[in-house]
Amino acid sequence: MADDLKDLYPVGEMPPLGHVPARMHAAVIRPERYGEPDQGFAMEVVDVPRAARGQVLVYVMAAGINYNNVWASLGYPLDVIAARRRKGAAEDFHIGGSEGSGIVWAVGEGVTSVSVGDEVILSGCVWDETAPDIRLGADPMTSSTQAAWGYEANYGSFAQFALVGDYQCHPKPAGLSWEEAACFLLTGATAYRQLTGWAPHTVEPGDPVLIWGGAGGLGSMAIQITRQRGGIPVAVVSSDDRGKFCLDLGAKGYINRNEFDHWGRLPDTSDDKAMAQWLKGVRAFGSKFWEVLGERRAPKIVLEHSGQSTIPTSMYLCDTAGMVVICGGTTGYNADVDLRFLWMRQKRLQGSHFANLRQCRQVIELAASNQLDPCLSWVGEFHETGHAHQLMYENKHPSGNMAVRVNARG
Ligand code: NAP
Repeated sequence: MADDLKDLYPVGEMPPLGHVPARMHAAVIRPERYGEPDQGFAMEVVDVPRAARGQVLVYVMAAGINYNNVWASLGYPLDVIAARRRKGAAEDFHIGGSEGSGIVWAVGEGVTSVSVGDEVILSGCVWDETAPDIRLGADPMTSSTQAAWGYEANYGSFAQFALVGDYQCHPKPAGLSWEEAACFLLTGATAYRQLTGWAPHTVEPGDPVLIWGGAGGLGSMAIQITRQRGGIPVAVVSSDDRGKFCLDLGAKGYINRNEFDHWGRLPDTSDDKAMAQWLKGVRAFGSKFWEVLGERRAPKIVLEHSGQSTIPTSMYLCDTAGMVVICGGTTGYNADVDLRFLWMRQKRLQGSHFANLRQCRQVIELAASNQLDPCLSWVGEFHETGHAHQLMYENKHPSGNMAVRVNARG
């Protein structure tokens, strides 16, 4: 090795372009630390992975914070390290981070779409481009080989270097800072697929859309995308401060969920008394929706991720022939559906997971052309990666999206 080359660089000290050191700093999760994020994450030094055929090594400038690495830290509902080891992975640790921004540092054999030195945004899913289902025309997000990068797949953006497939690299819009570029693609593209990817249930001008967690990562993106397409977003939040944030983003209005108490699983449908009580609660919530919307129309689309606690309300409130589209289950995974509302009113309950490359590019284009504010609300230092997830776990994080600086300096 030349005298001026090191095998480990301090965070923020950039190696000569293209020089790949042997080791790197990373915010690491290990099984023996599984638990709340404050304890689950720790800064460690690990070996830098090498880019194999079709892969790219990226020098990470900033990384976005997302809920999936709250789950990774808890080791629940999936022990991501054990799951990978069952499939033959050697590493006994997890480096999370499912989005980020950085500089292409090394490319594996066969990579032609990016070159060393390119500034990129990283999207959050991997798949095998030679998989039979993809070759037969499947959306890669529905491939049996698809996995969430920085969650199910290792070597995410919470490290000085990240390992991605070449197709995960998207040109970084020049007008965005490293931190802005790192924070919005996961939530933005997920919300975009939910709102535009499930024809004929796409947001069209004049469509009312109910958005749970309007001030959260997904919600802040969903409000803007709905507006951008001419829809009418109504947000649900847990405080007036968060409601004000949603109004500023373009929500027609907001509902404070703390004014209602019918949350949780649906009562047994044969329990008339409990059902009557639940119906009273959900109808009051529906009346509030009409009041906020300013007319007696139901939401054509309900953007769901809160799950068990809210899905009975979502399914009831959704318009006849409308769609509840769900990408998560923060409050639990039992989705109780009164099937009478589902079939009599011909509603659709649609699962949705992240986004394909076209949808990612469309969301990046919205941000590049100032039609989508990344809503970067909090920037932490690299060593605060665990703390940022702890804030999210406790629902005490600021509205919008969060990022940590990895190699970028403030
Ligand atoms: P976030 O920024 O924490 O926002 C979630 C919002 O949910 C919070 O702001 C909170 O708003 C609301 N919330 C919390 N508890 C609630 C409850 N009991 N009832 C109703 N609302 C509640 O998180 P996010 O990034 O938007 O992600 C949300 C969920 O979606 C997570 O479970 C995440 O794993 C999942 N997700 C999935 C994908 C995918 O591709 N499948 C992608 C992104 C996210 P208020 O307290 O103000 O109501």
